[in-house]
Amino acid sequence: MWDFSTDPEFQEKLDWMAAFVKEECEPLDRLYPGMGAPYDITNHKARALVRPLMEKVKAQALWACHLGPELGGQGYGQVKLALMNEILGRSQWAPIVFGTAAPDTGNAEIIAMFGTQAQKDRYLKPLLEGEIVSCYSMTEPQGGADPGQFQCRAVRDGDEWVITGEKWFSSNARYAEFLIVMCVTDPDVPIYRGASMFLVPRATPGVNILRNTGVFGEPESDYSHGYIRYEGVRVPADALLGGEGQGFAVAQARLGGGRVHHAMRTVGQCRMALEMLCERAVSRHTKGSALADKQLVQAYVADSWIELQQLRLQVMHTAWLIDQGHDYKSNQVPIAGIKVAMAKVMHDIVQRTIQVHGALGLSDEMPLAQMWIHAMMMGVVDGPTEVHKLTIAKHLLRNAKPAPGLFPSAHLPPRIAAAREKYAGRY
Ligand SMILES: Cc1cc2nc3c(=O)[nH]c(=O)nc-3n(C[C@H](O)[C@H](O)[C@H](O)COP(=O)(O)OP(=O)(O)OC[C@H]3O[C@@H](n4cnc5c(N)ncnc54)[C@H](O)[C@@H]3O)c2cc1C
Repeated sequence: MWDFSTDPEFQEKLDWMAAFVKEECEPLDRLYPGMGAPYDITNHKARALVRPLMEKVKAQALWACHLGPELGGQGYGQVKLALMNEILGRSQWAPIVFGTAAPDTGNAEIIAMFGTQAQKDRYLKPLLEGEIVSCYSMTEPQGGADPGQFQCRAVRDGDEWVITGEKWFSSNARYAEFLIVMCVTDPDVPIYRGASMFLVPRATPGVNILRNTGVFGEPESDYSHGYIRYEGVRVPADALLGGEGQGFAVAQARLGGGRVHHAMRTVGQCRMALEMLCERAVSRHTKGSALADKQLVQAYVADSWIELQQLRLQVMHTAWLIDQGHDYKSNQVPIAGIKVAMAKVMHDIVQRTIQVHGALGLSDEMPLAQMWIHAMMMGVVDGPTEVHKLTIAKHLLRNAKPAPGLFPSAHLPPRIAAAREKYAGRY
């Protein structure tokens, strides 16, 4: 059965969320617009505003819904989570308010999956409560998309591991209570078997944030992507998350669901852009009529709606596939597909929306330039577009067979001859 309906009980929850995000979360985006601002637990004024909102979300049983009931969530499948994330995507602060902000969601999931009881007690509990935030520290300055370039090493020394190396674009490191650091533990085997994950409290001596990098011209005080030098950082043997050499197996587990949530938040952003595009089209007049009356502008609207609809269905279908009991690995291709599509669709819709807003669209008086940069980010974070396209292409090409002879199997002359022979005397 193909079924595109949402059950009415869950729709009521979505309606509550939509109103709550608009009225309570979107104003926070205006007060604290920095990309890292929702994670700044040292901003006591902002935290005082957010805490009661978190309580309201918990009272609605909508807190951290990606988690199973044993961890205080609802155990919702990916389809429900996708519909929720479409709403959360409208506000930068909403994911924090609903306990579903990346990278904390993925970090919590891998601690829940691979962590020891002691690790769960120390890190998972306060993370799930929203009392602390965390950082995922993997990319290095000399190589992000190619893990084969990673150099940050962890070397065993008695009961301890000693971490030495540099990490780059470790988001929210400055606010994080702890970092999950990917390190090379065996340089003599391929990186996919020679890397391990470590749980490192940020206060550990030797965790030195050289500087924080900002994006899209945000003020320096908001810069939140840490360039970190780990200088002989000593952690106990039990700081290892998962087994030695399992770093990439652990990393894969955190990306599947996260990409679906990211994609659906992007759908939410695209929907906002389309709303702005339509409003502008019917508001602005030039050469004797509204922009909405110009056919070129009508094409912008139609193209944007079509692309948004295609993306939304593609994401929902991927979420559905995962819910059918197939794991993330067997859905690698659809997940890569939405990762690529979301960056392109958001780029194109936001670009048209900026265009019809003219100078205003480019100005800091509209959120559009920031949204456009976000679209660019989508094409880089969690692996660049090109790498995901390679995944898709490799899969398709692996299943393709060479033509049986000189000409392609779709070559018409032999097909016509075969058809004539099949229906000889009857056509
Ligand atoms: C806002 C933001 C937040 C981030 N947060 C985190 C974080 O919290 N933790 C973390 O560890 N990292 C984080 N990153 C880093 C991110 O994961 C990397 O930027 C990404 O993996 C790409 O690595 P790179 O920047 O080193 O680019 P490179 O690996 O140098 O790639 C540069 C470009 O080369 C091209 N390219 C690369 N590989 C191929 C290929 N195989 N075929 C064809 N072309 C290719 C692509 O155009 C690519 O964009 C963040 C990045 C951004 C922008």
